[in-house]
Amino acid sequence: MFAVAVPPPERNRALAALVEAHGEQVRASVQPVVFSYPDVLFEIDDHVDCLFFPASAIISLLATGLDGREVEVAMVGREGFAGVAAYLGQPRSPLRARVQHPGTIYSLQLTGLERVLGSSAPCSAPLNSYVRQLIRTLAQAAYCRAVHTTDQQVARWLLGYMDRLDGNSFYLTHESLARMLGVRRATITHTALNLQSRGAITYDHGRVTVTNRQELESAVCECYEIIRREEY
Ligand SMILES: [Zn+2]
Repeated sequence: MFAVAVPPPERNRALAALVEAHGEQVRASVQPVVFSYPDVLFEIDDHVDCLFFPASAIISLLATGLDGREVEVAMVGREGFAGVAAYLGQPRSPLRARVQHPGTIYSLQLTGLERVLGSSAPCSAPLNSYVRQLIRTLAQAAYCRAVHTTDQQVARWLLGYMDRLDGNSFYLTHESLARMLGVRRATITHTALNLQSRGAITYDHGRVTVTNRQELESAVCECYEIIRREEY
C-alpha cells in the first residue's frame, strides 16, 4: 500500500483565486475526489448542484445530438471549473461533462459557495473571470472549426491538453479524438501520421508522446495562441 499525494486546492487557478478572495472558508468547503477516465460528472439535463475544479484531471465538455454523437466544445483543467450553467443559476446542465484525463477534482457544493459568499445568489469575481474566459474560448473554437483544417485543430487540441498536464505523454485513441472533434477516425489517423512524420509526436498502443513541442506549434493555427492568452 502507498499513499498518493493529493494536490492542494490551489493547484486549480480559479479555486486559488477564490481562496485568495474569500479566505480559508473556501478551503474547508471543497472536497477532493479522484476520478478515472471516462467517469461522467454530469449528463445533459442533469440537475447540477456543485462545481468541479480539476487539480490534476482534465474534463471534457461535450454537446450531443439526437443520434447520440458527441462533440467536445471545451476542455477544462487547472485554469477553471465545470458547472458554469449551475453557477449562473441554471441547474439543468446544457452539456455533458466527462473526465478525459484521470486525476483529482475538487468539488464545491453551490450551497457551500453561498455560505462562503454570504448570499443566496452567489457571484464571485474570480469565478466570473473564468466564465468570461470560457465564452471567449468557445467563440474562438467555433471560428477554428469553421475556418481551419483538421490538422490544425488536432495540433490545437494536443497543445491545449499538454498545457493542462504535468508531463508530455498521455493515453488517447484515434477514435476518441475523432469523436470529440466530430471528424472521421481515418482523418485523425492521417493527421497523426503527418505529425509523427514531422517528429512532433510518437504514438504507441494508444499512448501519445509529444516529442517536439516546437514542431507541434508550427502545425497549429493562430487560435491556439488566442485561446492560451485567455487561459494563462
Ligand atoms: Zn484555428
